[in-house]
Amino acid sequence: MSTVSEFTKNYLMENKARFEEVSEYIFNHPETRFEEYASAEYLAKACEREGFSVERGVAGIETAFVATYGSGKPVIGFLGEFDALSGLSQEPNKTAYEPWDTSNGHGCGHNLLGTGAFAAACAAKKYLEENGLSGTVKFFGCPGEEGGSGKTFMVREGVFEGVDAALTWHPSPSNSIMGLSSLANYQVYFQFKGISSHAANSPHLGRSALDAVELMNVGVNYLREHVIPEARMHYAVTNTGGISPNVVQANAEVLYLIRSPKVKEVDDIYKRVCKIAEGAAMMTETEVTIKFDKACSNYIPNRSLEKILHKSLLEAGTEAPTDEEMAYAEKIWESLTQGEQENYLDLMRGFGYSGDGSEFEGKYLADTIAPYSDKEGVLPGSTDVSDVSWVVPTAQLTAATSTLGTPLHTWQMTTQGISSFAHKGMFRAAEAMALTAIQLFNHPEDMENVKKEFQAFQAKNPYTCPIPTDVKPSKLN
Ligand SMILES: [Zn+2]
Repeated sequence: MSTVSEFTKNYLMENKARFEEVSEYIFNHPETRFEEYASAEYLAKACEREGFSVERGVAGIETAFVATYGSGKPVIGFLGEFDALSGLSQEPNKTAYEPWDTSNGHGCGHNLLGTGAFAAACAAKKYLEENGLSGTVKFFGCPGEEGGSGKTFMVREGVFEGVDAALTWHPSPSNSIMGLSSLANYQVYFQFKGISSHAANSPHLGRSALDAVELMNVGVNYLREHVIPEARMHYAVTNTGGISPNVVQANAEVLYLIRSPKVKEVDDIYKRVCKIAEGAAMMTETEVTIKFDKACSNYIPNRSLEKILHKSLLEAGTEAPTDEEMAYAEKIWESLTQGEQENYLDLMRGFGYSGDGSEFEGKYLADTIAPYSDKEGVLPGSTDVSDVSWVVPTAQLTAATSTLGTPLHTWQMTTQGISSFAHKGMFRAAEAMALTAIQLFNHPEDMENVKKEFQAFQAKNPYTCPIPTDVKPSKLN
């Protein structure tokens, strides 16, 4: 083990209890997009206690902040999320669905994500400090990842300017580099306005906004056949115009989420969806207002940075789970559906694991690291880390914090969120990210390679923010 790796591991283990407390605090205060007041303030204060200077309310978002330590180049940024999901409230460390109440829960493990990135920033800072090196460490408090594209707004407002490399991670059942691209998306409200009337007495005088929503959805469902197979069009009816069938509904609203591997493709589909909305309005003699909610781009991996991150992940290593952890994981495994169990190996292959799965047999928890792969591909999901990756060389990893096969956004993911193996995964991620930052501080030639790869991409692919300038971040309704 190198001295740097010893230093990082020792630092994280000496401060283990302190970081676990942060993760538990965020877990116990699950807040949804752009309302993460308790979590953001707790993390910002923790940064200040560590000697970072903190700028709060960046990009005009109350819960977004930037914590900075040091000076000069290179500037290494750690991206930390801390938002929860609505409806995923759940008691921790259980083996069955036991919600606290009907509200929010950390079903995507962002309590671990934010804390792991924070711990990595602290370790990198400590290294600079102890060795009297120049260089800057930034921890970005990134709110509203779930359905909010917080980072995309932050990129639009120039929050990441001057950063030389950005590192982040995500909790999952796997230890690997997340090198696949992701789907770009637009999220847009279609609000229809008609005329109400008595549905029996004078239906001919009413103009139904709900009819318009239904016709629009039918139109979009016909459009599905004529878009590329990778595209996705999801919708939720967010206002049905009331609960009275004897009233012609004067107002109705549908929220669309359109995804595709490239922003340009999303934009083309979006324009066609808008035509369908206008057609529905024309058919029903209602009016439609289109309200853009948010968007994000597709992810651009930086292979040079990923290779350093993968080497660092190997150096951080894994440890075998304890019997107790394994027994708990087995119970979680048993709670998964047959489909989820059958799907687990495909999921691991998506993360870069190869072979027939024998390395996972009888284990329930991944204790190996997937080999590095720079295979091109698109993850069937979206992330706002993508927009950062268009303006700063970015790499992300995933560390095993949950039982094999655990899908994100489920009570199973929530309940494992502060377990001992989840925290082990969090420290593994923190260590790998800190080691990567230290490598870049100590080896300017590596930083140069990362930059060169990025500049070659940027020269051909200038960034345009997919969120129009007049659109502001919005909270859940
Ligand atoms: Zn997530």
